[in-house]
Amino acid sequence: MTVYENCKNGLCCSCGICKSVCKTGAIMYQKKDGMFIPTIEKDKCINCGVCADICPGYHQYYSSHGISKTPLEAIKGNVVTCYNAWSRNAQIRHIGASGGIVTTLVGELLNRKVYDCAFCVDNYTYDVFLSTEYYTSETFSQQEKLGWKTPKSRYLPVSHEKTVDYILSNRDAKVIVIAVPCALQGILSVIDKYQLVRENYLLIGLFCERNFQYNLVNYFATLNKDKKLTGFHFKNKESGGWPGNLKFFFEDGSIEYKDKSFRTDAKDFFQPERCLYCIDKLAINADIALGDNYTQIDSSELGSNSIIIRSKRGLSAWDECSAAIEYRSISYDIIAKAEAVEDRAENVYFAELKKKKLFEAGLYAPNINEGVLIENIPDRREQEYLFKLGNLRVGFEDDTQFSNYNRIINKAKRKRKKELLIYSIRSKFAAIIRKLINRG
Ligand SMILES: Cc1cc2nc3c(=O)[nH]c(=O)nc-3n(C[C@H](O)[C@H](O)[C@H](O)COP(=O)(O)OP(=O)(O)OC[C@H]3O[C@@H](n4cnc5c(N)ncnc54)[C@H](O)[C@@H]3O)c2cc1C
Ligand code: SF4
Ligand code: SF4
Ligand code: SF4
Repeated sequence: MTVYENCKNGLCCSCGICKSVCKTGAIMYQKKDGMFIPTIEKDKCINCGVCADICPGYHQYYSSHGISKTPLEAIKGNVVTCYNAWSRNAQIRHIGASGGIVTTLVGELLNRKVYDCAFCVDNYTYDVFLSTEYYTSETFSQQEKLGWKTPKSRYLPVSHEKTVDYILSNRDAKVIVIAVPCALQGILSVIDKYQLVRENYLLIGLFCERNFQYNLVNYFATLNKDKKLTGFHFKNKESGGWPGNLKFFFEDGSIEYKDKSFRTDAKDFFQPERCLYCIDKLAINADIALGDNYTQIDSSELGSNSIIIRSKRGLSAWDECSAAIEYRSISYDIIAKAEAVEDRAENVYFAELKKKKLFEAGLYAPNINEGVLIENIPDRREQEYLFKLGNLRVGFEDDTQFSNYNRIINKAKRKRKKELLIYSIRSKFAAIIRKLINRG
């Protein structure tokens, strides 16, 4: 089996890993529906199945020692300790997506020679598949003089091809990996499959509500049709502080800030389908998992992070850097509540509906959310699932349709409001009938 079916069924999260493990060179990436998905050259494929084995679109594992978990236990994963934190370096804190903790950790761990290299994304233009790039202590620290290129979040799929190529051919190197949870799962599967030494890798996981797909970039380009958009920051603190507005860069050298609502409103329409099924919001496979600090405790417009240390390796890396970081203890429960993990747990229902649909069509059902206990799917979820899938189709539209984009969003929002109203009237009506029957 190959990743072909996975991609055909909308389950690819564009992690860019399968190409690295295909030893016959059969895999190339092609853009489709805003995602970079693999195409397989039939003549070169020997059907070895390795690509499917490591693919996080097919498999995400949550059970430990064969014991299944409730969705909320699965999302929690292993927790050593939790903090709210921010960089003591004011420049890094300012330029970072949240509190600049990732940049601080990478800089400190490379300078102290605890790790040999790190793989980071380092551009703010999105006309090609974003990719991680190799950094040593020298090249990473040069950014302080030459200008920062690695900080900030890119809410788009990133290819980890170069990271995986590197770890497979440099088995003894100590490497820092930064990735969203699905990509971390893929990298961990590579480490397991090729029996690499787990101790050599510090896995930094970014909390992840969901991603965007690349057609979002075309949509943003239509927000100012007089100028050519060359790049943007998804979140920039210069106008109004954290969590940050969009900052657009144009070909003529001008810049423009756009309110963050353009980013948040676009989420329902430009996300990869795979994100609808994913519950790993808090990066269970990471050594250090981190995100924005939404706890309202130590939250600041200067930016700060919520941190979950998940392993001894993570704790030891954290302790090594502690002088460069301001941090305070906080409970997992407060972070989980601030990140609304209960809402996220509902994705198990969408995953079950997807599997059911594939099974009924006689297609291979993937192992999404393996080891998660699932109760009966409430009726309402089916309706909501179809609604969400409908929204995603807006983002698949051809570029020329984007002039109608705002009209489509508003129409979808109105339709949603109407559906919710009908649903609430129906359930109230059903409750009254049930009451009457019980009395009778
Ligand atoms: C798709 C996505 C969804 C997210 N959703 C949430 C959320 O729901 N809740 C929450 O609290 N936090 C979320 N985050 C995390 C948050 O936006 C910050 O990335 C995180 O808090 C780190 O901030 P920082 O200031 O420490 O990072 P910085 O110091 O700014 O460093 C960021 C590092 O991440 C790397 N990077 C950026 N984008 C990617 C990417 N897509 N893949 C791999 N590496 C990348 C950069 O190269 C850089 O090294 C999300 C991030 C992403 C990428
Ligand atoms: S999710 Fe990653 S490994 Fe799976 S098909 Fe997509 S790019 Fe390949
Ligand atoms: S099955 Fe093997 S040869 Fe075929 S695409 Fe996948 S990894 Fe390559
Ligand atoms: S929501 Fe899940 S599948 Fe989507 S990008 Fe984030 S980690 Fe990957």
